[in-house]
Amino acid sequence: MKIERKQSVVLVPCPYQGHLTPMLQLGSILYSQGFFVIVAHTQYNAPNYSNYPEFVFHSMDDRFQEIDISFPSLENLYSMNENCKVHLRDYLFTMMEEEGNQIIACIIYDNVMFFVDDVATQLKVPSIVLRTFSAAFTQSMITIFQQPEKYFPFEDSQLLDPLPDLHPLRYKDAPFFVIKNTVPEAELEFRRAICDIGSSVATIWNTMQDLESSMLLRLQEHYKVPFFPIGPFHKMAPSASSTSILEEDNSCIEWLDRQTPNSVLYVSLGSIVRIDDKELIETAWGLANSEQPFLWVIRPGSVSGFQCAEALPDGYEEMVGERGRIVKWAPQKQVLAHPALGGFYTHCGWNSTLESICEQVPMICRPIIADQLVNARYLTQIYKVGIELEVIERTVIEKTIRKLMLSEEGKDVKKRVVDMKQNIVAGMQIGGTSHKNLKDLVDFISALPS
Ligand code: UDP
Repeated sequence: MKIERKQSVVLVPCPYQGHLTPMLQLGSILYSQGFFVIVAHTQYNAPNYSNYPEFVFHSMDDRFQEIDISFPSLENLYSMNENCKVHLRDYLFTMMEEEGNQIIACIIYDNVMFFVDDVATQLKVPSIVLRTFSAAFTQSMITIFQQPEKYFPFEDSQLLDPLPDLHPLRYKDAPFFVIKNTVPEAELEFRRAICDIGSSVATIWNTMQDLESSMLLRLQEHYKVPFFPIGPFHKMAPSASSTSILEEDNSCIEWLDRQTPNSVLYVSLGSIVRIDDKELIETAWGLANSEQPFLWVIRPGSVSGFQCAEALPDGYEEMVGERGRIVKWAPQKQVLAHPALGGFYTHCGWNSTLESICEQVPMICRPIIADQLVNARYLTQIYKVGIELEVIERTVIEKTIRKLMLSEEGKDVKKRVVDMKQNIVAGMQIGGTSHKNLKDLVDFISALPS
């Protein structure tokens, strides 16, 4: 059946993998609902156009050629917001002059690209904010920065104490860059900027109403605009096109094909965080001594001071032999869906979390920064589909792996993640919350004044 296409939606993603992926998936969802999709992206980490031939792409001059912005520092994120503003405004202005104002139904932007609010206001186009994080993370940020003095600075002795009003978080899970037990003012300011939705008329969430209902209700009271939780995007999107910035090493799928069902531990800390060589070595021995098969992503640049896996102990790969496989970047969704997968040692980024739950893979949680700390706490304490890695030390890593993969406790964790997946699937079916919220979102965008 031929779809009668309506207006265009302009998407402005933030160019880091964990942000770019859900925005492209949202594009696929909206395209399948009859919208034209225009993606205005930075030159840095530009998406692969050939994976989305149905979209129109527009590259914004980000002026980043001279600087390394591979880590999303505050400075980099502010420059990104500053540098793209005029370019996006002029591009959309020209489009509206040539095609008429009604061409653009709305601009949907990642909350990190907050400059878009100004552009949309100047052009008098409605804007909608996309939140690529969990509602729990946003709620925790808002609660803390409304009264930062209640939380910071804290004493070393408080690290394991509960954070007031933020059960189940502890001081060590505070989702900010904490330096000397306090949070720099610039960091708080930035978090305020990304939580502010300016004049946006709605928010879209890559989460599920059934999972985070109380959190979403509290946030809706705060923001007072319509909310559309329509996750998990990667399952709601009809297109399974790759969104990877790095090249995927598909040879690991053949290796997985040779492994026993439910036996392999997949290890990946996502696209941004870096660890030191000491952690790499402890992890290496923990994996080797656990005697479980493992597939380990060691991303180039992810070990401070090293190019890639050369920080591993001498002869490590030969020693583990066929039992272990190390790659630079994996086709993660395919890996998690593979029958050989038994567990995921993860940094608990929100995309990885959703991808793992949707393939009913239980987790070992090793969060490092920001939302990962909140997600890990919910996974281990509330949903109980993950086990916390308490100390980064080889014997603890080995024991935690065995607990997840071999023990009765591990079986219980597995059962809970199977149930959790069923609930998510129910939400995506006709009559389910994500399905219904998507229909409401389509009606909402179609009815926006242009
Ligand atoms: N990913 C991947 N291959 C890898 C590691 C990660 O495709 O080897 C993908 C993963 O599927 C997820 C994204 O990268 O969609 C990482 O996003 P997440 O929110 O989990 O963490 P971030 O990278 O933002 O910290």
